[in-house]
Amino acid sequence: MDFKQYITIVPNWPNSGIIFKDITTLMGNGEAYKAATDEIVKYAKKKKIDIIVGPEARGFIIGCPVAYALGVGFAPVRKEGKLPREVIKVDYSLEYSKDVLTMHKDAIKPGQRVLITDDLLATGGTIEATIKLVEQLGGIVVSTAFLIELSDLNGREKLEGYDVFTLMKY
Ligand code: IMP
Repeated sequence: MDFKQYITIVPNWPNSGIIFKDITTLMGNGEAYKAATDEIVKYAKKKKIDIIVGPEARGFIIGCPVAYALGVGFAPVRKEGKLPREVIKVDYSLEYSKDVLTMHKDAIKPGQRVLITDDLLATGGTIEATIKLVEQLGGIVVSTAFLIELSDLNGREKLEGYDVFTLMKY
């Protein structure tokens, strides 16, 4: 399937100069959303995954249907103050600011094989922070999977040593 036909390109959003890749039009098409999910499931089946981890909010959209199809759990990564029990935290830098990501301390058991999912790989900062959380809990990051990779931003370089699967490259 040509997945790119379902992505809507939105120039100058959220800021002038940014060419936003809107995945909601892919999600809104049942055939395309299922086919994209199936591709990640097919890839993940080879990796013997114990649990999927995804950062809010679009990491859930990709990761949860894959977790359902594989019959494994899903552990959410959230912004500070959103998870109700004891968490671990990591600071990470955005383009012009800093933020904090958190995970429940008991979300992953040491030695579990983890697939990390998100909609889009840009600079890799979000996934790098997510990897830190998983590894702090003793999880093994087996793979990362995305719908879209923005190749010019070199996120792959930041994830050197980790397996990276992407469906579409821009
Ligand atoms: P990174 O941390 O620089 O790799 O940025 C990736 C994060 O930013 C992901 O969680 C994406 O959801 C979000 N993101 C950045 N650019 C876009 C875009 O064009 N479309 C959708 N999400 C984006």
